[in-house]
Amino acid sequence: MHFLPRRTDHSSPARPHDWRDDAACKGVDPTTFFPSRRGAVWDSGPAKKVCAGCPSIAECLRHALSLPEESGVWGGLDEDERLTLIRRARQAAEDERRKATGAADAVAVP
Ligand code: SF4
Repeated sequence: MHFLPRRTDHSSPARPHDWRDDAACKGVDPTTFFPSRRGAVWDSGPAKKVCAGCPSIAECLRHALSLPEESGVWGGLDEDERLTLIRRARQAAEDERRKATGAADAVAVP
């Protein structure tokens, strides 16, 4: 597993099972998932191949979008792809807000 956050402290012997336990990236070299230096040429393809077979891909992506994780491959998407998703979600929310506001204005105008 690459740098996935630890959910519980390890002194607890009976921590609940979660998506990180099933991560296909356990034991995979972390440099597969993160560019080694800013601006360096990096191929996200190998990481995405690992993610493609991961049973935790949806939970991992949800986690990465919620923080958001700014670097590397999470949930099968690189940072640019996640940023695109976030922008689209924000635009959709803004469109909904405007639509709702417009509808409310339309009702308020006699
Ligand atoms: S989706 Fe990819 S980065 Fe996320 S836990 Fe699975 S293998 Fe690791």
